[in-house]
Amino acid sequence: MEYNLYPKDILETEFRPGRRLAHFLILLRNMPGSLENAAANARENQVKVLNGLYHAPSASTDGLWSFFADFTETTTTPADFAAKLKALPSVGRVEFHEGNNGFLIDSFHFPPTVGGSPSVIIRRETFCRLLDRVREILGPGPVAKVLLAEMGMSAGKFAYQCLKATLGEAIVKEQFEQLTNLYTAAGWGVAKILEINYESKHAVIRLGQNFECQPHKGHGNEAYSHFVRGDLAGWFGEVFQTRIQCTERRCVAKGDEFCEFSIEALK
Ligand SMILES: [Zn+2]
Repeated sequence: MEYNLYPKDILETEFRPGRRLAHFLILLRNMPGSLENAAANARENQVKVLNGLYHAPSASTDGLWSFFADFTETTTTPADFAAKLKALPSVGRVEFHEGNNGFLIDSFHFPPTVGGSPSVIIRRETFCRLLDRVREILGPGPVAKVLLAEMGMSAGKFAYQCLKATLGEAIVKEQFEQLTNLYTAAGWGVAKILEINYESKHAVIRLGQNFECQPHKGHGNEAYSHFVRGDLAGWFGEVFQTRIQCTERRCVAKGDEFCEFSIEALK
């Protein structure tokens, strides 16, 4: 089934010069309608919620709502709004800080977590530049390509082992094709399994908007994605329990519409 894809903005910064912005953090008690009551309070006070996160794991009794808000169009101040929220029986605690001239940076949360694991957020372009710097230093020969592929292989192998430790091997095997969407969810590219055969240990993965190649779209005449091909080799090496040869047979860097990787057991 195909889905539309929407960008997700992680709560980190907001910059709207001239606007009165504030970051609110609300700890909500486990009561029916606690989130709705807080949101209704924002609406009644004409506080515009811009971006945020709501976290209430099923195992937890409480919830956390953290959001950036715009107070420019209301006479309610952030302090007034905090006092009104604190008066709600469903609210346990309220904290806020105001931005300076429409500039906010999250200073309430650490560490960021992805799937429950502490994570570092890095821009796609920054990550891509790190890999490109390896190419610049080591030159166009095979050394940079092997090094990048080895780095990728270590990452892919570790990612699969972490999933197996967290979810259990049976679930990882049952959900394997869905787990490929982790590439998409993490921003590496839009991943799709075109072929997979567990008997012959073969797979073909299409990766649209591959972060490693997209900035080099149409710039060369050879496949460019050595880190990602290594990552897939590391990942599928764990899946197929064998050493893997991963070849990027189509690549946007050489004019193809997608990057596409063929995975085979190493002979
Ligand atoms: Zn590519």
